[in-house]
Amino acid sequence: MADKGKKGKKKHVNKPTSKKYKKYKISGDKFTRDKCCPRCGPGIFLMVTNDRLYCGKCHYAEFVTKAK
Ligand SMILES: [Zn+2]
Repeated sequence: MADKGKKGKKKHVNKPTSKKYKKYKISGDKFTRDKCCPRCGPGIFLMVTNDRLYCGKCHYAEFVTKAK
């Protein structure tokens, strides 16, 4: 006998995203939070790449010098 019903039983995978994403953190203690763009002002945050900060709005770039 085959099972009745129960077809298409999909596992519901819900990833809890309750925790707020941790902002990028650069090793060292210079940048531990997001930084605003000096040109665009507060509200416009700089994107952090490996070793630099970048503003996607005005294309301002700033290199991060890791204190060592
Ligand atoms: Zn900017």
